[in-house]
Amino acid sequence: MTAPAPSVLDAPAQTPTGAIAARAPGNACPECLQPIERAHPRQMFCSPAHKRAWHNRDTVRGARLAPLAIASHSTRGGTRGDKDTGRDARRAAEQLMRQWDADDRAAGRMRAIEYVALRNRLGYDQ
Ligand SMILES: [Zn+2]
Repeated sequence: MTAPAPSVLDAPAQTPTGAIAARAPGNACPECLQPIERAHPRQMFCSPAHKRAWHNRDTVRGARLAPLAIASHSTRGGTRGDKDTGRDARRAAEQLMRQWDADDRAAGRMRAIEYVALRNRLGYDQ
């Protein structure tokens, strides 16, 4: 008999600076970080209200970030084509992502890196 492989969320994630990134247990609701008992294997949120809050915020963020990210990508971060616009788009996208990461931490929500790891572990986006 072998023990089950540990979840990626069981171990603290290391950031480039070596700080501990993971604060959430593997069964935490992304919105409130409270442990949940899953009613089905892919349930992520503790309640419909928290699921709706998370996805509504993601929708608003995505609408702002997508054109900036695409403009940045299409100019290779402002090094090809319309360099000024591409560079400004890259900087604006990075500023938004830094702000949203800080907002999530301050509000006691799951960080994006933890959320993506949770989605991968539950079989979403694969
Ligand atoms: Zn919750």
